[in-house]
Amino acid sequence: MQLADALTLEQQHLISLYTRTPLLVTRGEGMYVWDDTGRRYLDFCSGGRAVGALGHCHPRVVAAICAQAGVLLHTSNDYYTEPYLKLAALLSTHCVCDKVFFCNSGAEAIEAAIKLARKAGKRDSADRVEIVTTLKSFHGRTMGAITATGQPKYQQDFAPLVPGFRYVPYNDLAAMDAVITDRTCAVLLEPVQGESGVYPATPEYLRGLRDLCDARGALLILDEVQTGLGRTGTLFAYEQYGIAPDIITLSKALGGGMPIGAMLAKSDVAAAFARGDHASTFGGTAIAAAAGFAAVSTIIEENLPAHAAEVGAYLVARLAALRATSPLVGEIRGRGCMVAVDLTEPVAGFVRNTVQEQGLLILTVGESMLRLLPALICTTADVDVAVEAIAQALTAAPHAARA
Ligand SMILES: *Cc1c(COP(=O)(O)O)cnc(C)c1O
Repeated sequence: MQLADALTLEQQHLISLYTRTPLLVTRGEGMYVWDDTGRRYLDFCSGGRAVGALGHCHPRVVAAICAQAGVLLHTSNDYYTEPYLKLAALLSTHCVCDKVFFCNSGAEAIEAAIKLARKAGKRDSADRVEIVTTLKSFHGRTMGAITATGQPKYQQDFAPLVPGFRYVPYNDLAAMDAVITDRTCAVLLEPVQGESGVYPATPEYLRGLRDLCDARGALLILDEVQTGLGRTGTLFAYEQYGIAPDIITLSKALGGGMPIGAMLAKSDVAAAFARGDHASTFGGTAIAAAAGFAAVSTIIEENLPAHAAEVGAYLVARLAALRATSPLVGEIRGRGCMVAVDLTEPVAGFVRNTVQEQGLLILTVGESMLRLLPALICTTADVDVAVEAIAQALTAAPHAARA
């Protein structure tokens, strides 16, 4: 198949929902993907959206999938299988939230967290049902998840939304203080807002929020679907704040490229769920859980979170140095291998397309922000190649400051 065929087939058969880059990806290995013409691209999006923490087709993940595929692909949760038990044990020994529910995606992990928080709140009082989330957040595309997502553009055409949600600006503790009451069962937020452009919570904010939640009997849910499993420089982003959440959601990097999600909760919170309260046919399915166990073991054993912190800091420093030569480079925000560059003019699309022609894949947010999410295995040499391509694209970009 060639790109032209892909475009035709998309038009004929797919519901038009994605703004796809005209690139037919046929193969991936490590930091690289190849297209139908055999061209190689350095992937600074981790397979699109922070999924490939280990890069493409990591040998340990591939070996685990192949071994599991020859033995057992799936049975439902009516039975025990080794892969999900091993993955649950691994996650709970490394996380303060030590009880695990498996699902298939980030949005499903959010749905599970919403249900658990409501059920746990009702142990306290029938009115304790409200969930507070933050503006500019992103939590996924199911009805509960778009309700939690504090961005009208994801919600407006799909009303009525799920009742009982309140929204406050991010990093604003006074706003939280004003809205958390004895009706609040949980506060849900990302430790670093990802999709909207890499905005980290301040330490004072998350610590203050933990105290507020404790004082008012609300649970603290951290959506670590994007930040989790090493991306921000620690296995979980909460570790950098010296606080412990009550519930954590995971997905993206969890399966090493296979679809899997998880909700982790502290034991006393998890105990609010009774048998039959929640379920997923494919949740923790053998093939995905085997891949997940290989992926998470590799991230931990190879100390990749610490490597992500180092190489991410190097990436931020190299990008900051571009300010000396380009007036287009504005604020740079980074936590490990999660980096955003504000541009002073709306040339993000130009930069993305230009670096793609040079063999580099990056993400953009709107027209004035670049987002870089390299795999945790990224080297400083990879960073040098990427930053050089971005520098050249910025030099070529049409902008008023130069005109
Ligand atoms: C991607 C993302 C989700 C949604 O995950 P899906 O697997 O696409 O449903 C939820 N929360 C955060 C923070 C994300 O980055």
